[in-house]
Amino acid sequence: MSKRAFLFRKSDDRVICTACARKCALREGQTGFCGVRTVKNGELNLDVYGKVAAAHIDPIEKKPLVHFNPGSKVFSLSTFGCNWMCAYCQNFDISQRRKSEGSELPPEDVILLAKAYQVEGMTYTYNEPTIFMEYAHDIGMIARREGMFNTMVSNGYWTEEAVDYSKDFLDAVTVDFKGNGEPKFMKRYTGASGPELIIQTIAELKRRGIHVELTDLIIPQIGDSLEYGKVLLTKIMDVLGPDVPIHFLRFHPDYKLINVPPTDVKILESHYNLARELGFRFVYIGNVPGHPFESTYCPSCGKVVIRRYGFRILEWNLTEHMRCKSCGEKIPIEGKLSKNAFHDRFEEVYI
Ligand code: SF4
Repeated sequence: MSKRAFLFRKSDDRVICTACARKCALREGQTGFCGVRTVKNGELNLDVYGKVAAAHIDPIEKKPLVHFNPGSKVFSLSTFGCNWMCAYCQNFDISQRRKSEGSELPPEDVILLAKAYQVEGMTYTYNEPTIFMEYAHDIGMIARREGMFNTMVSNGYWTEEAVDYSKDFLDAVTVDFKGNGEPKFMKRYTGASGPELIIQTIAELKRRGIHVELTDLIIPQIGDSLEYGKVLLTKIMDVLGPDVPIHFLRFHPDYKLINVPPTDVKILESHYNLARELGFRFVYIGNVPGHPFESTYCPSCGKVVIRRYGFRILEWNLTEHMRCKSCGEKIPIEGKLSKNAFHDRFEEVYI
C-alpha cells in the first residue's frame, strides 16, 4: 500500500516535499532524505502509507506527556524512516532503515486494533511522524470520530504546511530537543540545523491550540552545556511562557554513541535548577525512575499534586477541576485523569 502525499508542491522540473523543514527538491523517481517519500508520475508518494513498523500499548507518561489526560492508555505506532540521523537513536533499527516495509494496516484496521485494546488515544512515535503525516492524518481523523485523542512525539523539524495539516486531528505533541539545541551538536549528531525551525514549529502548534510539552536529552560531554541550555530556555520562555512542561532526559548509550556514559543525575539536576530559576513552573527529570522530580509539585504551596514512579501515577492530589487539594491553585493539565491510571498498561501489539 502507498498513497499520493498531500504535503508537496511542484516547482519547474522538481517536486518539493513540504512535510519537513528539509524541503527536499526531488526529480522523477527520487526519494527524499527520510527514505519514504518518492516522486512517481510527477507527484509525491508516501511509500509507507498503511505500513506499520512497530506498535505498542503505552501509558501516555512514557511519551512523555504528563499534563495531558494523565494515566491514559495509548496505542503507539511507527513506520520506518526519519528526517534526522541521530547518532544515539534508541530506535535506530526503525528510524535509520530507509525502507517502505512494515505490516499492512490501513487506517481503518489500525483503529479496529486500537479499539480492541481499549485505548483512549493514539500516539505517532518511535520514528519522526511528520514524514508519514498523511497516514497519521487519516488514522487520526477516524480516531477523533471514535472519541479518541491523537498525540505525537516529534523532533519538531516541520514546515508550517505540516502544522496546518495536522491541526484537523492532532491534540498534543512532545517536541524533543537534543543537547540543548546547540547548533554544532545538532549538525554533527542529528544532521539537522539549529533549534530555530523547531521553535517556529512550537509557536505554530501553540497558535493552533495544540498542547505542547518539551524534552531535552542531555548527553554528557557533548550535549550538556548549561550556557546553551540557558539560551534555549530563554527562547522557549518567550514563545510558550512559564507553564510549558519541560523534561530533562537522561541519556543512555546506544547506536553509534555506545561509548558515551549515561548522564550523571547531578547534571540533570543542574538543568532542572536552571529552568526553575528562569521561572518555568513545571520541570521534570526523566529516565531516572524514583527521582523526586518525576512528580508534579504545586507551584503555590509546594505540595506533591501528582506523585509518580517512572511512568506510573502513585498518588493524585488534584480536584476534578485540576486544582491543588491543599491550596486550590489551578494546575494547567488538559483533559482528565484516566480510569486506567492505576492499572498495568504495558502491552506488546502483535501485527
Ligand atoms: S519528509 Fe522526507 S522527503 Fe519530505 S522534506 Fe523531509 S526528508 Fe525530505
